[in-house]
Amino acid sequence: MKIETTSIHEGYKPNQGNGSVAQPIVLSTTFERGEAGAFVEGRDIYSRASNPNRRALEEKLGALEGGEAMAFSSGQAATMSIFHALQSGDHVMLPDDIYYGTRLMLESLYGRWGLTFSAVNTSDLNEIKAATNVNTKLIWLETPSNPQLKVADIQLVTDFAKKNKILVACDNTWSTPMFTRPLSMGVDFVMHSTTKYFGGHSDIIGGCVVVEKGSEMAVKIREFQTIGGAVPSPFDAWLLYRSLATFPMRMNIHATNAMALATYLEAHSMVEKVHYPGLKTNEYHEVAARQMTGGFGGMMSILVKGGSEATLKLASALKVVTHATSLGSVESLVDHRFTAEGVHSKSPENLLRISVGIENIEDIIEDFRQAFEAI
Ligand code: PLP
Repeated sequence: MKIETTSIHEGYKPNQGNGSVAQPIVLSTTFERGEAGAFVEGRDIYSRASNPNRRALEEKLGALEGGEAMAFSSGQAATMSIFHALQSGDHVMLPDDIYYGTRLMLESLYGRWGLTFSAVNTSDLNEIKAATNVNTKLIWLETPSNPQLKVADIQLVTDFAKKNKILVACDNTWSTPMFTRPLSMGVDFVMHSTTKYFGGHSDIIGGCVVVEKGSEMAVKIREFQTIGGAVPSPFDAWLLYRSLATFPMRMNIHATNAMALATYLEAHSMVEKVHYPGLKTNEYHEVAARQMTGGFGGMMSILVKGGSEATLKLASALKVVTHATSLGSVESLVDHRFTAEGVHSKSPENLLRISVGIENIEDIIEDFRQAFEAI
């Protein structure tokens, strides 16, 4: 099936009993056993371990990324499951531009458990090679990266990693399987904050990890999920499952709108730089065009002339676009990462991240036009 069909049909099948076409929500935490306490085939036992709504969701997520999916209560919980597959003493390679919460997790939580890390430019294989040591067990990719949209060549990195017995994880939250399928390029773990494009409506926190079906990694991640218990509620699983039906359509509009807005902003006299790999002038355009099929996503960031003050004024002057953190939703959002990330931020002070929504693009461009004029 093509992605538009998978997003609608994979997972729940109309109920054989009452015929309900839409999936019912099963809130029960426990399920009746058969004769003499026997487990009943196809029936769940206890909702931390599995639940009908989570199973349907995982089937759909797995089909979208081409592997076996495990759903979590947040993107961060999904990331933790991957770090937990490592051992004390292991070394992790991170991109130098990355969602700050991933780096924070290694700094604040896993340092105490003996994981070390290096942050390098993962767009440059030489930097990865130089930082690799005998304990390096995982290379983490995030492409395009948050917030500067650096693009890493996934295949190049996995070829190197395989030769050196290093695992590769890819946070595919920004590109999504609509545009990039990391498992087909040799990645071992695909991770998502499903809070973003999969949810798409700013009303669910969630995450998932997708790995090769039946692999050793699938066993490890499933173990962390069911024993650790950071699982989504049946309602969140249901809501996310429902949102996925429109995911491919939304992504096409996000990407088309982003391309148009990036082109407009690139020509604006108050914009120093636009980070968007869809632009032919972007330093990552060539590798992005090779690796991303059908579009370059809906995320970008701009460097505003006039420093932090002008950037914050611009964010406040927007009327249709909302100044709020997060991304990937139907409504356009801007975020000043320097203030959002706090003292540890590595984001330039004049960087404004833009999550381009699916409104009419003329309204978004007009909003930026009037906001620039107002500051
Ligand atoms: N990865 C990326 C690229 C993100 O942007 C985020 C959140 O902003 C996360 C991971 C963390 O996900 P969550 O907020 O769902 O825990």
